[in-house]
Amino acid sequence: MLLSVKTQLKLNFKERVLMSKHAGIARFTYNWGLATWQSLYKDGYKPNQRLLRTFFNNHVKTNPDLSWLKEKGICQKITEFAFENLGDAYQRFFKGLANYPNFKKRSKSLGSFTINSGGKAISVGGTRVKLPTIGWVRTYEGLPHTSTTKFTISERAGNWYISFPLEQELPKPSVKVAAVGVDLGIKVLATLSTGVVFDNPKARDKMKKKLAKQSRQLSNKVRGSKRYLKQKLRVTKTHKRTSDIRLDATHKATTTISKNHAKIVVESLNVKGMMSNHKLAGAVGDANFYEFRRQLEYKSKKFGSEIVFAHPFYPSSKTCSSCGHVQDMPLAVRIFDCQSCKISLDRDQNAAKNLEKLLV
Ligand SMILES: [Zn+2]
Repeated sequence: MLLSVKTQLKLNFKERVLMSKHAGIARFTYNWGLATWQSLYKDGYKPNQRLLRTFFNNHVKTNPDLSWLKEKGICQKITEFAFENLGDAYQRFFKGLANYPNFKKRSKSLGSFTINSGGKAISVGGTRVKLPTIGWVRTYEGLPHTSTTKFTISERAGNWYISFPLEQELPKPSVKVAAVGVDLGIKVLATLSTGVVFDNPKARDKMKKKLAKQSRQLSNKVRGSKRYLKQKLRVTKTHKRTSDIRLDATHKATTTISKNHAKIVVESLNVKGMMSNHKLAGAVGDANFYEFRRQLEYKSKKFGSEIVFAHPFYPSSKTCSSCGHVQDMPLAVRIFDCQSCKISLDRDQNAAKNLEKLLV
């Protein structure tokens, strides 16, 4: 499941000019490559993207008449990608999957460009992204906290957008781990007895702040007015985005868990009881326990793993996973310090280990 994120950039005039320049250079490079490919082919040569790229770097970029290609502030990685893109277009054509590549025209759109960092991970998150050479750019929406090696920036109807693939957080081991206990948390999404922790997406906190602000603004508007309607639409949009971020994180976690483990034990939390504690209600609602377990249930069927629900009164948090001693563990206490064997470990980790033991 490879997802991608696309969102609008928040650019000032100078930044818009810079983006247009990049798109222009990407288009020029692609078209130069296509024209050169065609003329070489006519003369009986068999061109390829690497050959063209090398020639371009050594003989075209160095042409003083084309010095704008190497202007200060222009990310040179975009021309690399233009050749990759051209090579792909030819590959698709050769395989009969697409028509012969066309020249890129500047008609409806200023176009796009892609920065490929060559395997070097660039971190993303919140409302800013640091692009190589170009530097910081801002987005309107909060982005999920992740990293990527490839960005595409494109223009449509006067707006600029950034998109990048959302890669899986964990590599998939080929052999299934026999058994795992899953502790669903408040501080984190889930903790596994194997030591893997699925964090809550941090982008959500920002969205929640935004939501609170937008709701406050809504209450200041005159009901039924145009401004009220507009603000109401903003609130709906933010709500949707917040739940999308949560759902995305939950899907990633439940897929990884059910795909990579033969047997899964998950607690049957007394969610209702926890919800009645007002301080926790928000956080628990957020952690979407019901949805998490629902997904685990159907995905374990899909991936052929077995799922077991622990009894709601099984004291997974209060029992020492090392010696079995049972002690009181108020929710605020994050570390399990065993009063009997003196072992000390993370509360959720201890609970996950106890859940795993139910299988043995
Ligand atoms: Zn102990």
